[in-house]
Amino acid sequence: MTVEFQVQGVRVSELVRRYGTPLFVYDGTVLRDRFHGLRDRLHPAMEIFYSLKANPNISVCALLHSFGARAEVSSLVELTTALRAGVPPQQVIFLGPGKSRQELAACLDAGIHAVVCESIPEVALVDELARERGVKAPVALRVNPRFAVKRSGLAMGGRPRQFGIDEEELFGQTDLVKRFPDVDLMGVQVYMGTRILHEAVIVENTTRILDLAERLSAALNLDLRMVDVGGGLGVSYFDGESDLDARVLTDGLNPVIEDFTARHPGTRLIMELGRYLTAEAGTYVMGVRYTKTSMGERFAVADGGTHHHMAAVGIGSFVKRNFPMAVLNRLDEPATEEWSVTGPLCTPGDTIGRKVPLPPVRPGDLIGVHRSGAYGPTASPGLFLSHGYPAEVLVHEGRCHLVRERDRPEDLLQRQRLYDPTAHDEADVPH
Ligand SMILES: *Cc1c(COP(=O)(O)O)cnc(C)c1O
Repeated sequence: MTVEFQVQGVRVSELVRRYGTPLFVYDGTVLRDRFHGLRDRLHPAMEIFYSLKANPNISVCALLHSFGARAEVSSLVELTTALRAGVPPQQVIFLGPGKSRQELAACLDAGIHAVVCESIPEVALVDELARERGVKAPVALRVNPRFAVKRSGLAMGGRPRQFGIDEEELFGQTDLVKRFPDVDLMGVQVYMGTRILHEAVIVENTTRILDLAERLSAALNLDLRMVDVGGGLGVSYFDGESDLDARVLTDGLNPVIEDFTARHPGTRLIMELGRYLTAEAGTYVMGVRYTKTSMGERFAVADGGTHHHMAAVGIGSFVKRNFPMAVLNRLDEPATEEWSVTGPLCTPGDTIGRKVPLPPVRPGDLIGVHRSGAYGPTASPGLFLSHGYPAEVLVHEGRCHLVRERDRPEDLLQRQRLYDPTAHDEADVPH
């Protein structure tokens, strides 16, 4: 008997029969367990905001919200997504270094909890927009701290960055509250980096950020009603990495939070999590089209690749490390061979896995990349070779829901305009 990968009892062959390949499948139970695994242990004063950047699918956002997650957004579409997913405006914050006037206006019009400003000119623009509307705009300041996080995948603080306002500079801006009368300066945000897999590092970051927020609010005379301690909680992808232990993490964090809330009972505490909540729940399913060998190396050429899952390709890292992968329709067969798993793009970079231990692969097999629920299609060059978006399916409570349709050629072509070199109309002549 062959053992197949299943999501809540739904076999992968059934998913593929219904929705085709390539396909992202999300397991709602895993999403729930990820959220509650942390929520149920974390100090109740610390709110969990879902960073839509990791996976902006509206149904993923809605499901996480149904468990209790709020939303952290960084674009007009993400803001609209969160609101349409049912997240109340007071549970939404907006950050990002280059917000447009339109985005800032939308934040004020929706009445979100806070706009996290990343520069003084941005605060000035929010002040102006608030005055036009006759409202007071809730603003948190993103700080680029002096200290940097060690042992994170991508550090954010402690060096020149386009994100936030330098700590040194902010401490000199003691007239900020007076300078911007239509802004309600009510919070501080710091994001130290991503892919952190050491509990102690997160505890240390949080401690330092809370301390910084306290000192800054005193120096600037802010009424501190929100501190967003970022997050950056990682998940393990590669050999030699291990997942964070939610118990160890919260045993470290909770006393720090308790200590802070004792001094600031009215201050909302926020943690922003993307990858940590969604990565594990997703599997990228590709169908194998051809198998071949080249100079002694085995290749499985699949219908999915870089254009949907750049993270698995590992562009930007020195060594290619493989995400956890398997032949999903024959899980019980031992991995006796090494296969390079590649996609349909005309570039050698389209290699999802290099020398992956797998059982003998055949055309028609389904290869899965696990832990693919974060930074998949939205963080990939989806239009390269014009393949567009794959289908996305959410399985929850044993039922399958198509939460994104696969792009069809017409979807991709409809926004292009055909220029006719033989027509001689007068359109669009600059004067
Ligand atoms: C990307 C980002 C996040 C989410 O990061 P994860 O590593 O996916 O949790 C949160 N906050 C900010 C400011 C970010 O830029």
